[in-house]
Amino acid sequence: MRFTNLFAPTAKEAPKDALLPSHIYLVRGGFVSQIGAGIYNFLPLGKIVLDKIRTIVKEELDKAGCQEVQLGFVTPTELWKESGRYAKFGKELLRFKDRKNNEFVLGPTHEEAMVDLVRNRLKSYKQLPLNLYQINTKFRDEARPRYGLLRGREFLMKDGYSFHEDEEDLKREYALMEQTYSRILERLGLDFRVVEADSGAIGGSGSRELMVLADNGEDDIIVCSGCDYAANIEAAKRQAVSVPDGDVEMQAGTFHTPDITTIEALSDFFKIDAYYFVKAVAKKAIYEEEEKIVLFFLRGSDELQEVKAQNTCGALELEDVSSEELEAAGMVVGFIGPHNQSVDCYFDDSLKKASSLICGANKKDYHDIGVSFENEEFDYHDITSVNAGDRCVACGSALEITKGIEVGHIFQLGTAYSEALGATFLDRNGKSKPLVMGTYGIGVSRLVAVMIEQHHDEKGCLWTDATTPFKFDIVISSIKDEEQVSFATSLYEQMQEENISVLLDDRNERFGFKMGDFELLGFPYAIIVGKGLKEGEVQLGHRATLEKETIHKDEIFEKIKGL
Ligand code: ATP
Ligand code: MG
Repeated sequence: MRFTNLFAPTAKEAPKDALLPSHIYLVRGGFVSQIGAGIYNFLPLGKIVLDKIRTIVKEELDKAGCQEVQLGFVTPTELWKESGRYAKFGKELLRFKDRKNNEFVLGPTHEEAMVDLVRNRLKSYKQLPLNLYQINTKFRDEARPRYGLLRGREFLMKDGYSFHEDEEDLKREYALMEQTYSRILERLGLDFRVVEADSGAIGGSGSRELMVLADNGEDDIIVCSGCDYAANIEAAKRQAVSVPDGDVEMQAGTFHTPDITTIEALSDFFKIDAYYFVKAVAKKAIYEEEEKIVLFFLRGSDELQEVKAQNTCGALELEDVSSEELEAAGMVVGFIGPHNQSVDCYFDDSLKKASSLICGANKKDYHDIGVSFENEEFDYHDITSVNAGDRCVACGSALEITKGIEVGHIFQLGTAYSEALGATFLDRNGKSKPLVMGTYGIGVSRLVAVMIEQHHDEKGCLWTDATTPFKFDIVISSIKDEEQVSFATSLYEQMQEENISVLLDDRNERFGFKMGDFELLGFPYAIIVGKGLKEGEVQLGHRATLEKETIHKDEIFEKIKGL
């Protein structure tokens, strides 16, 4: 490709709302352009990268025995009603009607559509297992589309669904998909971790996410310093926290604590570690039919993990609740305690059978001290966040926190959808059973941005060999110099002959401008044909290190072939 023919409108300025390197460089480099909130066009360079990623995804899946299909992006609402997700999915699901008043949704994911495809077609265990996937557009009306391709509303996803006769075979496929996804990310040249994930409301017997490590990641990942344990903070576990040093003895009673409402202030006042206080966190839980205030109780030294909390109470969403709303519900803000509550209360596991506690007395300016939960039958769950320094459940070493971007999610789904949609098969004993399912997603367009989040510098993109739109950029220093043009052109033609991926920058622009584009666009190598040619020399520029080597013009082609 000649640059003079390439549609790659590069720009000096970044979009105003662009905060992350991938968003800035992909737009500035003319890889993508925004057409609406969370909706992007792919220009030629972006499309090459997208297709390269798509090809790698497809190659690895096909190798693992999966089959590609393509389902309608527009999905009839009935299927979503059958599964029960129509009511649950909330505002992310874009719903609309056609001219005949038929209702549809734009598919945000395709469990329903895929189960519909196989039901009444997969009839016998002899047809199992089966793994079908598509690489197709998705739409989710995300509340906050941002960070360019990382969180779009319209995006490209590979979504796969497998069908099995039993859990055991599902587990086999799940392990195979973990391997397959890992291979895809290895081939792309990404540094990643497979982590235990939250399985959400659908439950299922396990799920894992593929997290690319990146400073700007939205997800907090817990990783163990001593073993392989890694988990999304939403699903991370830890060993019970040890009791702080120093004996604490309290006589049971009620204590006057005027205006002392925060854990920190209470800890100062009593000169007792935050560990011994019972913190109440109030939330408004949104359910399908109602919304209500719920209380979560945990140790003062811990923080509520919202996803765990939401799963615990089974709400569709948890919202913050104001002091006025709490007062209207009869609560004494700042002094909320666990006893005699009329709302649903959930307790963290670390409070089970605990004693020497201090908690709100449900009375203004008073706390109960020396409280014991020894004989309390509270509703205990794991609802707290794991912190750096907590101990690993697997090996006891210290846990660390790092940032990641979710690029893939694999899920042992079980029979929830096949039961709801009536997808059954006849097993080996002639008995009718619901199909056992797995689901597997990977964000193909998100991966374009993730490549740059993990590989960039202050000048621009750094594409890996597997994803770069062009491997070599031949930069003609002066387009007016016939010798340079003729050498560069014949090298370009020779490289094309050999199917070497190359762009010829033949634009009538300043040398500095062209090198700026080379750095912004992030192709791995530049072959700079400039003044040195008179002495028989050209330069090989390495994008990753910004170093340049001088090479004799007769040797450059061999050098290129060796790279
Ligand atoms: P997230 O937690 O980031 O919102 P998710 O858990 O909702 O993602 P899944 O339903 O597991 O996403 O979808 C599978 C994959 O699709 C994700 O791992 C991610 O790579 C990609 N993906 C999901 N939402 C988006 C989005 N809004 N824009 C781009 N890619 C997305
Ligand atoms: Mg996910």
